[in-house]
Amino acid sequence: MIKNRDLIQRLAEGNRRYLTASAAGGDVSPSARRKTAAEGQRPYAIVVACSDSRVIPESIFSAGIGELFVIRVAGNVLDNHQLGSIEYAAAHLHCRLILVLGHTGCGAVSAALNGGGDGFIRYITDEILAAVGQERDPDAACCLNVEHAVGIIRREFALHPEIPSADLDILGAVYDIATGEVRWL
Ligand SMILES: [Zn+2]
Repeated sequence: MIKNRDLIQRLAEGNRRYLTASAAGGDVSPSARRKTAAEGQRPYAIVVACSDSRVIPESIFSAGIGELFVIRVAGNVLDNHQLGSIEYAAAHLHCRLILVLGHTGCGAVSAALNGGGDGFIRYITDEILAAVGQERDPDAACCLNVEHAVGIIRREFALHPEIPSADLDILGAVYDIATGEVRWL
């Protein structure tokens, strides 16, 4: 059951603005910068996204300074550092919406489907392969990879003393790098 429908609406509305030619974008003005520096950050959502240069969460959701707590890592995979970042934003900044955002044409997913990478990349492709199993269709694999990360977050924070899971939404979505649309899973 969705609890933070207003926050999800805010993301969806931001994406709609991004899709229009007259997209206003988020507030990155000097006054917004000074205000958040003085008063602290109160991001309304945590977004776990890929490092791909075509996937810019703040732009995709028309978000400005202080609005999104973004964690970017190739293939939007999770390890303890990412989970620590999520924990910080949920427990201490009181974010109540966590979104894992995969995307079409993901090179990390493709690398995993093509047998995995070398060096440190292998840590990423191994995690994606664990998520996708025998699936070899890139779009289906992308969705499975997102759902895998959503499952990890749900499990890890199910009984967290400082994060009330009753108030939390943990969702997945896929961003289309050609159309700019976010498809909610
Ligand atoms: Zn990617």
